[in-house]
Amino acid sequence: MKKIVLRDDEMPTQWYNVVSDLPGGLRPPLDPETKQPMGPEKLAAVFPMGLLEQEMSDQRFIDIPEPVSEVLKIWRPSPLVRATKLEQALGTKAKIFFKNESVSPVGSHKPNSAVAQAYYNKREGVKRLTTETGAGQWGSALSLATNTFGLECVVYMVRVSFEQKPYRKSVMQTFGAKVIASPSSETNSGRAIRAKFPDTPGSLGMAISEALEDAASREDTKYALGSVLNHVVLHQSIIGLEAKKQMKIAGEFPDVVIGCCGGGSNFAGLAVPFVPDYLDGKKIRFVGTEPASCPSMTAGALAYDFGDTAQTTPLLYMHTLGHDFIPPGIHAGGLRYHGMAPIVSALIRDKIVEPMRLHQLECFEAGVLFARTEGIIPAPETCHAIRGAIIEAMREPDKPQTILFNLSGHGLIDMAAYDRYFAGELHDYDYPEEEIAASLATLPTV
Ligand SMILES: *Cc1c(COP(=O)(O)O)cnc(C)c1O
Repeated sequence: MKKIVLRDDEMPTQWYNVVSDLPGGLRPPLDPETKQPMGPEKLAAVFPMGLLEQEMSDQRFIDIPEPVSEVLKIWRPSPLVRATKLEQALGTKAKIFFKNESVSPVGSHKPNSAVAQAYYNKREGVKRLTTETGAGQWGSALSLATNTFGLECVVYMVRVSFEQKPYRKSVMQTFGAKVIASPSSETNSGRAIRAKFPDTPGSLGMAISEALEDAASREDTKYALGSVLNHVVLHQSIIGLEAKKQMKIAGEFPDVVIGCCGGGSNFAGLAVPFVPDYLDGKKIRFVGTEPASCPSMTAGALAYDFGDTAQTTPLLYMHTLGHDFIPPGIHAGGLRYHGMAPIVSALIRDKIVEPMRLHQLECFEAGVLFARTEGIIPAPETCHAIRGAIIEAMREPDKPQTILFNLSGHGLIDMAAYDRYFAGELHDYDYPEEEIAASLATLPTV
């Protein structure tokens, strides 16, 4: 069987929350002023209660509301596909499966959470959502979702992507969102950053500061984050829940589960539903891949840090390169965040997730091979998952193991990056050791 599809009525009706199954538990977010655990009251200015409850929940399964399921069914359940042609090209005995999240309307896994977030905001009477976007994938997903539920949407887009990715802007505008290049002159934090670094390409950390400030300053507005937080990982668990059913239909169980990691949501979404199997003694490895130019998992500290540059978020206990870290402008825009989801960070600490650091060129090479064998052009971020899958498949090519990776998105709006790759204009960056050291020196003391 090439492809395993589920019927609409086989789509999961509950999300899986891994928090209570984390062997070492999860440390709570802290109030940066008091250094005490942050209660939901303070966060209620920027998030709706429905999402805050999920953020703090340790309930293992949480119902997916009917209106959310209805929208997800536009493209879900997503197919599980066996990469037979890739296996043949590699000459491996490994079976390689991928979960195809590129089939969503905006081409990535991100609407899985955007739809849920827009729904809970709408239910609580919010009129307008602000957010940040790096490569433009999250902004596209949120504008799809806000348009569906009748909310306004304002997207602060990292300046370098705003300039390099005009078509993501077009997607957001088509869904009715307002897109602003960040840092902008519309917020105090944006103006302060521009005064200090006039030529900055921007960063996710800066854009988050602006979106948060905008949301906190208006009664009718809340803020949406596309990765990192527990409720985002919860919404993305639908990927792994479906994949588990589909692997079962295929008569397989993965030996290795792989995903690329920006803030950690697509990898965790695929991986966490398999964590209870691991804890029950099943042999299964979890590999999260990241770019060498922004190596939060392999070179960052596990520490409390701010989620944004202007130091306005609660302190999250996570793998971090420091909130001041500005990664080089590599093309995998969605992997350029300084931190890593607390859930993924805890799984690394508990030795359940193995991080893997990869260079940009080997990832594009893997992406091109995948396109030429399987017929799907992967997003530059996703190329990191494919490279990881190829490394695992070729470690012992005669070993008949089963590999499952997440095809987090397609690259059809990222063809400029492929052009630059073919023109030989892309280079490998070794991780900026001094910059990371300087940025880590600014971690808050707890
Ligand atoms: C945003 C994005 C990522 C990285 O974000 P995670 O939260 O780590 O999943 C990866 N792939 C694609 C296609 C993306 O759009």
